[in-house]
Amino acid sequence: MTEQITTVPNTCMNGCEERNDEDELEPVYTSDRFTLCDNCIRRLDKYIDNIRKNYPRLVAHLMPGSVEKDPESKQTKKPVAPLPVRVEVIDLADERHYLIGGSLPIENVRGAVGVIQRWAMTVRTQRRFTTRPKRYTIASELAVLERSWEWVLQQPWTPALMKDMRKLNSELSNAVGLYRFRPTAWCPTVLQPGDAGNESTEPVLCEGPLLTLSRDPLAIVCLKCRRKYDRDDADRLWREKLAREGTM
Ligand SMILES: [Zn+2]
Ligand SMILES: [Zn+2]
Repeated sequence: MTEQITTVPNTCMNGCEERNDEDELEPVYTSDRFTLCDNCIRRLDKYIDNIRKNYPRLVAHLMPGSVEKDPESKQTKKPVAPLPVRVEVIDLADERHYLIGGSLPIENVRGAVGVIQRWAMTVRTQRRFTTRPKRYTIASELAVLERSWEWVLQQPWTPALMKDMRKLNSELSNAVGLYRFRPTAWCPTVLQPGDAGNESTEPVLCEGPLLTLSRDPLAIVCLKCRRKYDRDDADRLWREKLAREGTM
């Protein structure tokens, strides 16, 4: 990607508009050569502040019941027992890129650190920074963005950066905040009577929480029955199960 500052428009690339004196909508201009308007930059700053604040709090919210229930949620009885862990918290805290020394293809990085690392790597590549941290962390990756902040705000990709930060901010605040637990993956294995996790005399669906293995990006494991899956297999089996039940 080549840098073409001269072609960057000086209206907010998020398409912000405001009313003029004639009560007509017109595009909002940016300060300097920035690609986002002042209002968007303030929001982006806020997302990043929140991410920095909430990330270290993740570990305290691993267990179900560690956050208040979403007040809007219906108090219906759950058909299955609650999971022993919050899968979405584990996903956010995944530091796989760190474990393998940052050599994973950038599309495969995981977790909150991975989302920010992707943008920090864009800055490193485009500005030809050659130093790399020993360990990629929220702090190391945000520092790369912040040291180049003026430059970052002049790039044509700021709307995509902002979209990622908004999404990560909301995922992190849901994880440590006021919303109820929403599992993202369940084990589709049918446990036979006598199998670990099945106390009954009938075959039952495991429905344990599925975790991604740190050392093997393609493998996931069920916390309840310990069965290992290929990521695509687990997804396919679960879709087949939902289709059988007519819930999809
Ligand atoms: Zn804007
Ligand atoms: Zn299982």
